[in-house]
Amino acid sequence: MPELPEVEVLVRHLRPLLIGRSVRSVRVQRAKVVTSPSARRLARTLQGARFCGLARRGKYLLFKLRRRGHAEPLTLVGHLGMTGRMYLLPARDRLPKHAAVVLNLGRDNFVFEDTRYFGRLTLDGSALARLGPEPLGAGFTAQAFAAALSRSQQVIKVRLLDQSLLAGVGNIYASEALFRAGIAPTLPARRLTSAQVQRLWHAVRSVLREAIACGSTVPLNYAGQGQRDGLFYFGKATGAPDYYEERLRVYDRAGKPCADCGTAIKRVLQAGRSTFFCPRCQRA
Ligand SMILES: [Zn+2]
Repeated sequence: MPELPEVEVLVRHLRPLLIGRSVRSVRVQRAKVVTSPSARRLARTLQGARFCGLARRGKYLLFKLRRRGHAEPLTLVGHLGMTGRMYLLPARDRLPKHAAVVLNLGRDNFVFEDTRYFGRLTLDGSALARLGPEPLGAGFTAQAFAAALSRSQQVIKVRLLDQSLLAGVGNIYASEALFRAGIAPTLPARRLTSAQVQRLWHAVRSVLREAIACGSTVPLNYAGQGQRDGLFYFGKATGAPDYYEERLRVYDRAGKPCADCGTAIKRVLQAGRSTFFCPRCQRA
């Protein structure tokens, strides 16, 4: 599932490809992903609009479009869900089977493809109001983090997945950050010492930053049709090397030796999600 770094890398990739392009026509093939307003109203609103910006908030993509006769740009909110992909495809190419929404931009189509249809492309921005601070933004301080954790009744791993605490952290980077901070995923959030909070605050930011840097430097196939090696949410480009083993230290490594101490990495279920951790390095 895509998390903050994957969305950030996608935003950086799409921004120069979309800005300045106009939407000539809109095809909604899966109304479920549009939610509100109706597919017909979405199509009518976007027709003729021109992309003027693209930003990220948590795991959401925020497309800004200008319409003739409107002073303020509108925001089209995208979410990849579990399996969503967004990419440009030459208009003459055949659309993929699971194309949910297609915006024709002239010689290219902007395709939102989603095999499981948990993704969204909508004008409804209400989900954004519930998001906590951006982990890489100035508003996310160690002090605010400590205060939020001290009020929590949950264990730290489960708490980290709450998007109202931190926007954009998911299962992979929560496990990786706890490993880097040397904190047991089962520790109640309010029991973290101030030294642990400080370490975790640094760890969350550094694992996200490094993942963005990794995704920004390796060649990717955003349509996901290339060979999948788990390197990144997107497929790797043809002929690109496999960096997977080096990138993730605990996630999806159950039974394999910890890179720091050699102990076998463990997998446990927490709130229905897999957590991976080193029982020796993450004892406290
Ligand atoms: Zn270890």
